[in-house]
Amino acid sequence: MNYIKRFRVEPGSKVNLGKVDAGFHDQHESHEHALPETETYAQKLHDLQYLMYAEGKRSLLICLQGRDAAGKDGTINHVLGAMNPQGCTVTGFKVPSKEEAAHDFLWRYHRHTPDKGQVAIFNRSHYEDVLVVRVHDMVPKQVWSARYAQINDFEKILADNGTHILKFYLHIDPEEQLARFKQRIDDPARHWKISDGDYAERPFWDAYTEAFEDALGKTSTEYAPWFIIPSNHKWFRNLAISRIVAETLESLNMKFPEPTVDIDEIKQKYHAIEQEERIGQESTERAGPEANPSLTFWPPDSAENPYIPALSEDRPKPDQSLSGRRLRVVP
Ligand code: AMP
Ligand code: MG
Repeated sequence: MNYIKRFRVEPGSKVNLGKVDAGFHDQHESHEHALPETETYAQKLHDLQYLMYAEGKRSLLICLQGRDAAGKDGTINHVLGAMNPQGCTVTGFKVPSKEEAAHDFLWRYHRHTPDKGQVAIFNRSHYEDVLVVRVHDMVPKQVWSARYAQINDFEKILADNGTHILKFYLHIDPEEQLARFKQRIDDPARHWKISDGDYAERPFWDAYTEAFEDALGKTSTEYAPWFIIPSNHKWFRNLAISRIVAETLESLNMKFPEPTVDIDEIKQKYHAIEQEERIGQESTERAGPEANPSLTFWPPDSAENPYIPALSEDRPKPDQSLSGRRLRVVP
């Protein structure tokens, strides 16, 4: 199955989340069954991110959206775990600060878009400004309804400047959300994640559904597509997202840059001598410490070192055998 085609929201389409099975898990019956494939894509992600970093020409922006407990943190842990942290940034967006609220709504997001060669992950994103903001009437309708086009323009600017954008909506159903909230209650290590606010949003489930459907349909574009990821099964969510990100990166046909130096010349200039030295060293070592006074046996024997007990009669004398002792350079 082609996951990019299967889960991508067609630009201009009308989304109906009620028709999407949040429990879908393709042909895999369990986490264990999916593991070999998941690991293959984790390795691919690792290698492709390294290539993107080396190439330094373009970047990747991953936006994660979903309801509370949909698995945004878990996805980041998984996807990022496969990558080198040097080439990644993660930014979480919460209720805007006073300074952020004093600017246009995109200001705080633009500052965290990726440098060339880098992957940036947004944990929530500029879509909050057409989701929570819309559901709770934080701005008038005419303000949030203009934002879909503004978001498309913003993403077009990023795309035209070398940023590839992938947006994932983590789709869970209300029963799964409640079960996950309950798991948090049962696990003291996750109590810190529980907030009244999460429960308070549940009565707005349908209003959020409408807001998500509108956002997904109006802002899925060729240059910044949305993917609806069935996320009731965390392991399937991780597999699907890793696979879509890896396959997208693969399709970019990135190349390692040409070396900026003449490799043969460098080899000749700096490594030829090293090579000679190594050959010389090896023949000196074979000749033993007499040929080179800076070499000694290790561990030392009792005759040389009064602090260790003498060797018993039945063991070879120090000068009779070299076995079990190595030559080392005395500093
Ligand atoms: P959490 O991700 O659970 O730490 O919660 C962050 C909270 O910040 C969520 O309730 C979001 O809806 C809220 N939030 C994020 N962005 C905005 C925004 N632009 N305006 C208002 N609330 C926001
Ligand atoms: Mg929350």
